[in-house]
Amino acid sequence: MGFFQGRYGFDLLSKILVLLGLIFLVWRNIITLTIGFALVAYGTYRAFSKNITARSNEAFKFESFIRNKLGNVLSNRNNYGSSSMYSNKGFNFGNYKDKVASWYNERKNYKIVKCPNCSQKLRLPKGKGKIVVTCKKCANEFKMKT
Ligand SMILES: [Zn+2]
Repeated sequence: MGFFQGRYGFDLLSKILVLLGLIFLVWRNIITLTIGFALVAYGTYRAFSKNITARSNEAFKFESFIRNKLGNVLSNRNNYGSSSMYSNKGFNFGNYKDKVASWYNERKNYKIVKCPNCSQKLRLPKGKGKIVVTCKKCANEFKMKT
């Protein structure tokens, strides 16, 4: 007890600085190590600082900065989300339905095989019995039962 008396203590800014510092320390790289140590050191220094007025001002500036940034990001996202959703909604949905339908038809009526020579994927009509397939990529001919 008493150690933190008269000291500023860990506020949000200090915690974020230390956390960021620790994240930077994960990379074993001289630049990130330097940044990481600097952030941890500064975050810790702030917590033990006795200049409470200066630290409070820092925290206040930091928090209003974050709030501005966050506010911008959130409002940008909202604008983007609502406008794009509005213009694309019906189109996207129809497109999606078409895709599912054609995928289903393909599954039902076609068989996907790989060319034994070049591994090119080929689409064969189903239910034709034994047929000779000519690969569209390497012109290799092979027999296949569909
Ligand atoms: Zn082939």
